[in-house]
Amino acid sequence: MRFTCSQCGQDHEGFSDLAVDAPHYFYTVPEAERERRCRLGSDLCTIDDEDFFIRGLLEIPILGTSGTFAYGIWTSVSETNFRRYVEIFDDPDQAREGPYFGWFSNKLPGYPDTLTLKLMAHLRDEKTRPCFTLEPTDHPLAVEQRQGITPARLQEIYEANLHA
Ligand SMILES: [Zn+2]
Repeated sequence: MRFTCSQCGQDHEGFSDLAVDAPHYFYTVPEAERERRCRLGSDLCTIDDEDFFIRGLLEIPILGTSGTFAYGIWTSVSETNFRRYVEIFDDPDQAREGPYFGWFSNKLPGYPDTLTLKLMAHLRDEKTRPCFTLEPTDHPLAVEQRQGITPARLQEIYEANLHA
């Protein structure tokens, strides 16, 4: 979707999803130490071989359409579940596993603290990233995932991220 931005007045090209390249905690490691302490791929991240993260999609229905909007974000998982996920990463039947408990591991612009959110990571198949479902709390992001968002709210989210 193309829209005129209420923040800068310019036209922005829409994009389907918003993705974050690494867990928040990766960026808290000083840059000079990251290579030694962290391993970061497109779907997996470890810090100090102590903290384990996987990437997935937090999907939110767009009201009045059949579409969904997705945040590509990271969650922590236990070491056991992380190692198991690595083992079955290429398995088309990985949906038989889990779901895995995790803590939301990114900060999203435009929301109160998201690092305190709990979620379940549902594995799907080897070509589709896990789907994250938030614990059903009153946090605005959890409410949005349960109830869906309007196209106007989606525009607000784009603007908050473009100008973060
Ligand atoms: Zn703008």
